[in-house]
Amino acid sequence: MKKLLLPLLIFPIIGTGAALAQSSLRPAIDSKANAIESKVVEWRRDIHMHPELGNQEFRTAKKVADHLRSLGIEVTEGVAVTGVVGYLKGGKPGPTVALRADMDALPVTERNDLPFKSVNTATYNGQETGVMHACGHDTHVAILMGVAEVLASMKDDLEGNVKFFFQPAEEGVYDADIAGAELMVKEGVMEDVDAVFGLHIASQMEVGKIGYRSGPAMAAVDNLEITLTGRQAHGASPWSGIDPIVTSSQIVMGLQTILSRSVNITENPAVVTVGAIHGGIRHNIIPEKVEMIGTIRTFGDDQQALVHKRITEIVTNIAESAGAEVDLKIEKLYPSTVNDPALTAEMLPSIQATVGEGNVISMPPITGAEDFSFFQREKPGLFINLGGMKKGGDPSKTPSHHTPGFYIDEGGFTLGVRTLSYFVVDYMGKKK
Ligand SMILES: [Zn+2]
Ligand SMILES: [Zn+2]
Repeated sequence: MKKLLLPLLIFPIIGTGAALAQSSLRPAIDSKANAIESKVVEWRRDIHMHPELGNQEFRTAKKVADHLRSLGIEVTEGVAVTGVVGYLKGGKPGPTVALRADMDALPVTERNDLPFKSVNTATYNGQETGVMHACGHDTHVAILMGVAEVLASMKDDLEGNVKFFFQPAEEGVYDADIAGAELMVKEGVMEDVDAVFGLHIASQMEVGKIGYRSGPAMAAVDNLEITLTGRQAHGASPWSGIDPIVTSSQIVMGLQTILSRSVNITENPAVVTVGAIHGGIRHNIIPEKVEMIGTIRTFGDDQQALVHKRITEIVTNIAESAGAEVDLKIEKLYPSTVNDPALTAEMLPSIQATVGEGNVISMPPITGAEDFSFFQREKPGLFINLGGMKKGGDPSKTPSHHTPGFYIDEGGFTLGVRTLSYFVVDYMGKKK
């Protein structure tokens, strides 16, 4: 009992002292981050020039592992196929903070005329294609390599440990059921972690800005597959058959009522998109089958469950009313990226400190998805957006992610290095 009382009494003193001690590392972070800016740019250009598809990030992973080892960081390779995990043990006890960068590129052929333009090609799902860092994951890798260098330089002063997740296959792979963050979590990388942070470069947000959102920030993505089977008939005598084309049209319209009549759109948006309908062969034949595929985007587990339930009710009941048979599949892919509200509130001052209050953007929900969400399902996490559009650029005229003209201005990298480093030391200071 003695031991119990004493820490309770002196807790506020330790708390404040520790917080100060850790955030007093901020100036050292700033100067180290500035000093290595050109190295970060160089790493990024090299990775940009040699992009690799998901689960094939061999060269990138080796570059990362060699760098971490040169800093005295303990390295595990081959995590979730090609991932690399670095472990930096701080000089003092404290929490373990994970930082994540994704390493994979996309089957896109680069159109930018750059000295470090992508040179790689690959076969993707049987098709020859160029490979390009068209989502900016090259910048994430280079920034996190920079953070590792910054934090390794002050490891004796760190009151806790840092895990560096260099993750493969964020964009998903066509030839495996489980990959990327989900597989890393399954392999146990989050077990000793207290909090996890990550960032995404944004091609349409100006350099020098950071965007964040508390709570559900990016959507869960699920695939929708519907096969309707009716009874084939002559197009001139539809009463003798069961028409899956008319039924599928009713289903498309019915699905739209989920968002207008079932979802509380004042809380969070949702999307149900039918992306393809296939059925029929000529003017005067009512076909037997129609196949429909689509995508579902939701924010948070409750909303996801509601939307899935309504899809099931609408699809099965419309099919039944027509006398058609239906096979409905909803395949869950990535869960919603949910920024822990308490952690987000705690870390907001760190963002404001690196970028200045006027440059912090409160983001609307993004209907795109991110597999960082798998880490956040294990422990509190925060995922932010880092500006990558050149200053004064017009977002509406700037190529978006996943396109051949996707381009990132290098001026925001140091801000990324500083912000992730601040997250680590500020979190350690608060959790001491
Ligand atoms: Zn992407
Ligand atoms: Zn991405």
